[in-house]
Amino acid sequence: MVDEKFASAQIKRLTGLSFFPTEKEAVRELLMALRIAPTEKIGKSTVDYFLATVTECPKPAQIRERAQPPEEEGYQAPGPTRCNACGDTGFVRQVITRNGQEYDFAAPCGCKGLSV
Ligand SMILES: [Zn+2]
Repeated sequence: MVDEKFASAQIKRLTGLSFFPTEKEAVRELLMALRIAPTEKIGKSTVDYFLATVTECPKPAQIRERAQPPEEEGYQAPGPTRCNACGDTGFVRQVITRNGQEYDFAAPCGCKGLSV
């Protein structure tokens, strides 16, 4: 989400396009649509995109589609691993030998799974 002030400034850039809404409520819908942009950079590039490609003011749905985060919902971008022992899964592989047989199993990691 970008803040309202930023979104408002970006939406004002669309005022030169044909059919930019005159109703305050409709402008607000555009603003709310742009606010879903995860970062200001994406918010700005959304408006850049419309200014560069269309002559009519986009609809809120079009703005939403463009400003939406590229990741699927619930997807977490891989970041640096915080626990090297378990790779943030919360489990480490352990091998024990019993009666000459090796068993490997997942043992809870000391970090208790930082990702959870
Ligand atoms: Zn760990």
